[in-house]
Amino acid sequence: MCVSQSEPQDHGTVTLPRHCSTTNQQQGDKVRGRYRKVVLLVIDGLRPDAITQDGMPTLHGLLRRGWQAASATTIRPSVTVAALTSLATGVSPERHGLSAASLQSLGRVRGLKPLPLELKRLGVETSVVTTQLGGSARWLAGALLRMGGVTRLVPAPPAPGVVVDVGLRHAARNSNAELVVLYLNDADLAGHAWGWMSPAYLQAVRTIDRALAPLEAHLEDPDTLIVLTADHGGGGVLPQDHDHPHPVNDAIPVGMLGGRVMPGLVSNDPVRLLDIPPTVLNAFGGAAPAEYEGRVLHEAFMTELVWA
Ligand SMILES: [Zn+2]
Repeated sequence: MCVSQSEPQDHGTVTLPRHCSTTNQQQGDKVRGRYRKVVLLVIDGLRPDAITQDGMPTLHGLLRRGWQAASATTIRPSVTVAALTSLATGVSPERHGLSAASLQSLGRVRGLKPLPLELKRLGVETSVVTTQLGGSARWLAGALLRMGGVTRLVPAPPAPGVVVDVGLRHAARNSNAELVVLYLNDADLAGHAWGWMSPAYLQAVRTIDRALAPLEAHLEDPDTLIVLTADHGGGGVLPQDHDHPHPVNDAIPVGMLGGRVMPGLVSNDPVRLLDIPPTVLNAFGGAAPAEYEGRVLHEAFMTELVWA
């Protein structure tokens, strides 16, 4: 049979595909819906309305072949530190208390259940790919990430194409189950300098779009799930900022790609940034801790592969 009796029961039952008569463990894992790799791509400050056929043809095309939320929102305040901490801990800023990088608020984070630590319990590594940081900043970032259970920091030169390339090469070389977080900040930098949706912002977005072409190779891959999102929008109140409460600052894209993702589906269900951590855990066969505030985005996956 496909699912051993000793497996945890909290995952419920699944509708099994036809090949389930095999006893092969790897096949069993696939039947149970586990992914080997989840690539979480966070594009800082990417507004969903910037993802158009003309402006981001690659991403627009990829999302049309995968699953995407018709509308999704980030947390408030809509700032990067708060949003990334929510992605890393599954809780809103009221819980984690981190809306600016300060040592005082780190103590509160310590009492939470960071996603990388939850993944580690499942035997899943977490790698974060970011642009190269200098001396003390790199040391600090490394210390913070390790505190949260991140396995490694993979440095990359500051160009979106290189970050994506380095991240995907790393994932291909590492045979362990792994969450690979790719973080691109070029759109946010352009938004602050010249304004959201300005020609310079849209140029930065186009450059990011060209960097995403290698993702196409994973569209049919049943072992890799690609989750795409942003930490916030921008230009809702002030043209060059994003931290005020405003629907345009709150709006983010949330999309998924991969061989077992519903193809060509735009979901009208409400989606939040906080839904991403439980969905990532579920992709690796885990359940989110009770304190996580989001829900698993079951609607993004083919029915027979989703755990009830
Ligand atoms: Zn910003």
